[in-house]
Amino acid sequence: MSVFTQEKIALVKEEISKSKSAVIVAHRSPDGDSVGSSVGLYHYLKKKGLNVTICHPDPAPYIFDWMLGVETILNAEENETEVLNLIASTDLLFCLDFNTMSRAGRLAEALLDSKAKKIMIDHHIHPSDEFDYVFSDTSSCATAQLIVDFVSAMDDEDLLDKTIGEALYCGIMTDSGSFRFPSVTPHTHTVVALLMEKGLKPYIVHESVFDTNTFDKLRLHSFAINEQTEIIDEYHTAIIHLNANDLKNFNYVKGDTEGLVNMGLSIYGIRKSIFLKESDGIIKISFRSKGEDNPVNVMANTYFQGGGHANAAGGKWDGTMEEAIAEVKRVLPEFS
Ligand code: 5GP
Ligand code: MN
Repeated sequence: MSVFTQEKIALVKEEISKSKSAVIVAHRSPDGDSVGSSVGLYHYLKKKGLNVTICHPDPAPYIFDWMLGVETILNAEENETEVLNLIASTDLLFCLDFNTMSRAGRLAEALLDSKAKKIMIDHHIHPSDEFDYVFSDTSSCATAQLIVDFVSAMDDEDLLDKTIGEALYCGIMTDSGSFRFPSVTPHTHTVVALLMEKGLKPYIVHESVFDTNTFDKLRLHSFAINEQTEIIDEYHTAIIHLNANDLKNFNYVKGDTEGLVNMGLSIYGIRKSIFLKESDGIIKISFRSKGEDNPVNVMANTYFQGGGHANAAGGKWDGTMEEAIAEVKRVLPEFS
């Protein structure tokens, strides 16, 4: 059953027809899904006649620079006052790819305070009650897939085009691990077929995202696998870590460690991969796992102030890298 029920869609149609402006927000540390969903929805809402701005907590990684519309995104790291004013004064707030306002980082308070009607479209578990309209479908592999469902429910498939298709396909492709996670369903491929009928060429998006590595990024990945990876045979787990100094040595820019945790998971026999990165004085942790009986979000939530999906989660550690790794090893047996 679709989460876009006729009753709720009728109410949202009414809200849109009463509104002049919309702001689209997504979670901090933007990924392909939050950026693709935002840009896809941006073009659609513009076609609906709204004055639309995308406001993100922080800048998007350069690997999405090819996406038409990404250049319009304002981020609160560089344009804080403008972003906060827009959030305070907009008629509609679309909250994409997060389940609770705290995931929007420095925008959280402004989002809670805003008088705008708040419409959430997301696929993370445990949606909060901070929104006026909640479209939460945890069975969807990507928020971008839900944006297509939303447009369909609005009876607006004729407004989909190549530009919207490329942005939304980028979201679906990245959040589904290029269509290989268990979250991919026949509906995922139906949605992609619809986008292709509207002009999308999937190979262009794959090339734009995956065949654009800098040499520094590849060298950093090689170093991480060669020097910084520990295999815990007993628990079928790979632990990869990079300190701030390592990042500096390879001229790290945001996005350069994307995909590294999945390399750990791709090792034969490995069922969990955990990547720790020293960043802004804390240790950021990415968790990935294989199998429906092997969730990592519980570990992220219980011990590392985070959460996420069963097979892909994140968290952090306030302390040193050594402590963080020791804690991972200490709690691993509990999740094996
Ligand atoms: P990543 O490892 O790519 O940073 O995060 C993987 C997934 O884990 C994200 O898609 C998101 O759903 C979730 N996640 C990452 N960090 C956090 C966090 O701090 N809190 C929660 N609740 N989920 C997170
Ligand atoms: Mn997502």
